[in-house]
Amino acid sequence: MVSGEQIIYLDNNATTELDPAVVEEMLPFLTRYYGNPSSGYTFGRQVRQAIDLARERVAALLGCEPGEIVFTSCGTESNNAAVNSALRLDPNRQHVVTTAVEHSATRRHCETVEKCGGSVTVVGVDGAGHLDLEELERAITPRTAIITAMWANNETGVLFPVEQIAEMARRKRVLFHTDAIQTVGKMPIRLADWTLNSLALSAHKLHGPKGVGALYVNKRSAFKPSMIGGSQEKNRRAGTENVASIVALGKAAECAAAALTEENTRVRAMRDRFEAALLEHVSETFVNGDRKARLPNTTNLSFAGIESDAALMMFDRHQLCCSAGSACRTGSMETSHVLGAMKVPAQLARASMRFSFGRFNTDADVERALEIIPPVITKLRALSPASAIREPATV
Ligand code: PLP
Repeated sequence: MVSGEQIIYLDNNATTELDPAVVEEMLPFLTRYYGNPSSGYTFGRQVRQAIDLARERVAALLGCEPGEIVFTSCGTESNNAAVNSALRLDPNRQHVVTTAVEHSATRRHCETVEKCGGSVTVVGVDGAGHLDLEELERAITPRTAIITAMWANNETGVLFPVEQIAEMARRKRVLFHTDAIQTVGKMPIRLADWTLNSLALSAHKLHGPKGVGALYVNKRSAFKPSMIGGSQEKNRRAGTENVASIVALGKAAECAAAALTEENTRVRAMRDRFEAALLEHVSETFVNGDRKARLPNTTNLSFAGIESDAALMMFDRHQLCCSAGSACRTGSMETSHVLGAMKVPAQLARASMRFSFGRFNTDADVERALEIIPPVITKLRALSPASAIREPATV
């Protein structure tokens, strides 16, 4: 087994290291406090209180009310639940508007919506990864149930103007859900000021555990649950709560809120330094996606003349972890649908690597990565028969 101490982890959009404060808070709920939160006696009620505290902490991070938070099993479930709810609310509205760059948690679900008789309109993006808001508005019909559009792209970090989309959806009287799984914990959020109907988040993207997420449901929005059974989560998500993980998500949210400003600056500086060094010292390197309206932690780079799968293998030998596009697609040979939608030429799309920084990265990680990457790119370019790319200088 390769352990976290040995590696240079530049793949924080895939998942993040658990914060020790999160582990400390969740452990007693796996051991001593195993009561069922629905039980009426103190041993159960104290667990209910821990869940309530987690709800308050997540709400504080999102700038909304605790009652608007529904705990789920992951970000995927949260996204699915929001769209399913919209489709169940009105049989005459079975149309979904989405974008060409969504995560498979939305894309594949939309394919299923179509197979089940609904219709889906997919709105494209430009070369920088931006949505055409007028096209989005034109896609809305009287049968539209919901717009589902991500806030930050997991591959490029490019941000959609969620506030503007929420306002447009309100004006057009359609629901709006955003997949904020890459945004929460990385950007300040105040949902109380906005009109969006629902938002998905996932604990493992903000130094919490895998297998737990949340759905924000605006208190003024109707909601039909996907999971039917007990009355947990105020009838919005049945099933005995994953207590330890929910407690952990609450702590992760509290830590994220406390660290947001400092981390935003520190992580952004690391990402910018890393990106600038590679652009300067490795010829024919390009940034994919808009560099301004972007998450502070992500850079998606194409190194012309290489195949990203080969680079991943060589980086792996140096214990450097990053992604070729999104982690879900690694190893599948399929090129990125995100870069495809941005019309990045196929050769550059196949040469793209995503590096994403996080709380536990250090300047030493950046230095080590900058020692590893340029020679690997040189080697791969030398091996590539088509390559006429100049050799990168050493950084
Ligand atoms: N949406 C986005 C943008 C993501 O990055 C991810 C995870 O990679 C998901 C959805 C799925 O979240 P989860 O792994 O919690 O199901």
